[in-house]
Amino acid sequence: MKYSSIPTDKQDMWKLYQDTEDLQWNNIYKNCFKTFEEVKLRQFQYFFTQRITALNPYLFKCHLSDTELCTFCNSERESIEHFFWTCPISNFIWSSIDKWLSENGFYFPLSQINAFFGISNPVLPHEILANKLFVLCKCYLYACKYSNQIPSITGIKYYLRHKYYIEKNSVQFGNVFHNFYSIWGDLGTLLENLDA
Ligand SMILES: [Zn+2]
Repeated sequence: MKYSSIPTDKQDMWKLYQDTEDLQWNNIYKNCFKTFEEVKLRQFQYFFTQRITALNPYLFKCHLSDTELCTFCNSERESIEHFFWTCPISNFIWSSIDKWLSENGFYFPLSQINAFFGISNPVLPHEILANKLFVLCKCYLYACKYSNQIPSITGIKYYLRHKYYIEKNSVQFGNVFHNFYSIWGDLGTLLENLDA
């Protein structure tokens, strides 16, 4: 897939909502592909950056939803900004996972820009891990919408564990194997011991 630093209509649309003048689109697109092996996750983040994530205003137009309002709080239009950030229920999930990660000593520089686009140029394992988590938290919220579940802190922890195990099972010996453990580090151990 090609990516470009030339502003597109989609990139400009982000400017309507927040201070995104300084976003480095080349890196944002590269990160979609560098952060995950799993195609579905790469696609999710790429479509998100293109603002083509299907939410209720679009589904309503297609007669696939009875409302334009948010699935979780049912009180505001389900825009990308609302659903993935300002909705009280989504925001509670972000702040809860932030608290849980920081209490356990993990790097998670939470802001709306990072939650949406990730750290622009991640190099160190903990930066790559943070970018994985930013995408996975959004995927969890989106999965809850389509499975008619209210997001919960327990739910997101088990969702992270599920994705961690998928990645763990897909890696082989060698560099990839080493990278997997250096990136997930102690968070992998924490997720494996959720039931303990
Ligand atoms: Zn809401």
